[in-house]
Amino acid sequence: KGQGKNGYTAFQPHMHTANLDRLSVENDLRKAVKEGNQFELHFQPQIDADLGKVVGLEALIRWNHPRAGMISPDVFIPIAEETGLIIAISDWVLREACAQLAHLKQHGFGEIRLGVNLSPREFDRVDLLERIRIPLDEFRIAPESLEIEITESLLMKDVENIVARVKRLRSTGVHISIDDFGTRYSSLNYLRRFSVNRIKIDQSFVRDLRTPHDSFAIIQAIVGIARNFNLHVIVEGVETEQQVAILKQLGCNEMQGYFFSRPLPSAKLMDFLKLANRS
Ligand code: C2E
Ligand code: CA
Ligand code: CA
Ligand code: CA
Repeated sequence: KGQGKNGYTAFQPHMHTANLDRLSVENDLRKAVKEGNQFELHFQPQIDADLGKVVGLEALIRWNHPRAGMISPDVFIPIAEETGLIIAISDWVLREACAQLAHLKQHGFGEIRLGVNLSPREFDRVDLLERIRIPLDEFRIAPESLEIEITESLLMKDVENIVARVKRLRSTGVHISIDDFGTRYSSLNYLRRFSVNRIKIDQSFVRDLRTPHDSFAIIQAIVGIARNFNLHVIVEGVETEQQVAILKQLGCNEMQGYFFSRPLPSAKLMDFLKLANRS
């Protein structure tokens, strides 16, 4: 992404006050977490391209900084992870996500699942299940409606430990998907041991989908493996009609990307769903 050494420089054009340094971002983030009204959760539709309907959503956080404007999660999530603020942020995200699921159910979209991103570090916490269960209970959400997205890199750390944790999380009924799949060269052998539900093929493969060579073969292989392991597959970063056509040919029918929709604020999401899923 052409980022500087701390992933920061690439974002400067969006920061209106020029010299927000790392320390002030940290302080401002602390303040934002305390006050709670600078964050917004947006929702990106996930489409079943055969049905032409929205079958899932991914929750993506937005930070509207009072002076600097929108700051990308790619910038502030790493800082939140280092400072431990990620815990409070994720609790906020999970609660907003469950509130949104309740809202969807009220409007007749109860079948739509919602993916939430969790950072690898949060998997080490003993209170993870509890933190997920609290908002599910509060909004009376079936755990199956919630899909926790974990990155592939997590699975490569401490396999025995992570296998057990993933299992425990799955036993609550919550679904799990592996995000950014294909980027980390994880052993496919492990995949069998993790009782996950879905893999999300990383958008870098879709970007190169021009000729039936490079990424084409990789996606085809991933789809084949997923089928053998009984996993669902979704492809991220779908931007063109041509990509849609190729992906369909490869047997991938679930897709997420700008071609269908950008991440939407709650109000716009409802309009989108009413149009897309009207039967
Ligand atoms: P991710 O989980 O891989 O999310 C997908 C990113 O790709 C999102 O960026 C999304 O807006 C973007 N995207 C979707 N469709 C397309 C497309 O067609 N083309 C292109 N070029 N991009 C597309 P976003 O929202 O900026 O989020 C960046 C990353 O920040 C996420 O990557 C995720 O790792 C992290 N993140 C976002 N929200 C949260 C959160 O609530 N908690 C945690 N822990 N991390 C989050
Ligand atoms: Ca994700
Ligand atoms: Ca991803
Ligand atoms: Ca990512």
